[in-house]
Amino acid sequence: MAQDPTQRLLHQARFLKSAQNVEQCPPDAGFEVAFAGRSNAGKSSAINRLTGQRTLARTSKTPGRTQLINFFALDEERRLVDLPGYGYAKVAKSKRNEWQEHLDHYLAERQVLVGLVLMMDIRHPLKDFDLLMLEWSAQANMPIHILMTKADKLKFGAAKSTLLKVQSQLKNHPAPLSLQLFSATNGTGCEAAWDKLGEWLEIAAPDQSE
Ligand code: GDP
Repeated sequence: MAQDPTQRLLHQARFLKSAQNVEQCPPDAGFEVAFAGRSNAGKSSAINRLTGQRTLARTSKTPGRTQLINFFALDEERRLVDLPGYGYAKVAKSKRNEWQEHLDHYLAERQVLVGLVLMMDIRHPLKDFDLLMLEWSAQANMPIHILMTKADKLKFGAAKSTLLKVQSQLKNHPAPLSLQLFSATNGTGCEAAWDKLGEWLEIAAPDQSE
């Protein structure tokens, strides 16, 4: 079966560079979609699954890169961006402030950012980190798409009802917001995620008339 064009493009993702601050980011031109999530939310697994590459996001986990912003090029003008996550327990407050400053800076300064994908473990939704991201999306009027990860850990009915509950809690979010179930383990939700990324990155859909 032919792959959809977004899937094809994502499968071409290549590590481009790591940046410690906004000055080190690639030129601010084209389109970027940023991925964010608390540590252990399943962000690396989601990036790997969506790009069809088993080790791509491991780059972001190598020592020395975990606090950096990691860029993956899809083509000349499109990029995925892996934002540093952190575990509340593990990081000292001073480090966390530093991290938050870099992230704030990236989120505020980057003209090419077209959307934010937020990963939340379906068993632990709407933690402080997630609220911070939602608040920023609201302030910046930045579209946000939530992957409720590890959906395979719950029965379908329970996963669906969690999704609906979170959806209703976020119904007054002032910026464009969407959410879906996702599992890097069994591939649930990949098509929906590709659709959203294709829309944001302006990847042309195949001509249905042919
Ligand atoms: P990150 O810290 O957000 O990048 O999280 P990882 O992608 O490293 O995942 C954290 C843990 O959750 C790992 O043990 C993964 O194997 C597990 N995990 C990630 N995604 C899924 C999923 O969709 N289903 C299940 N069952 N486990 C997952």
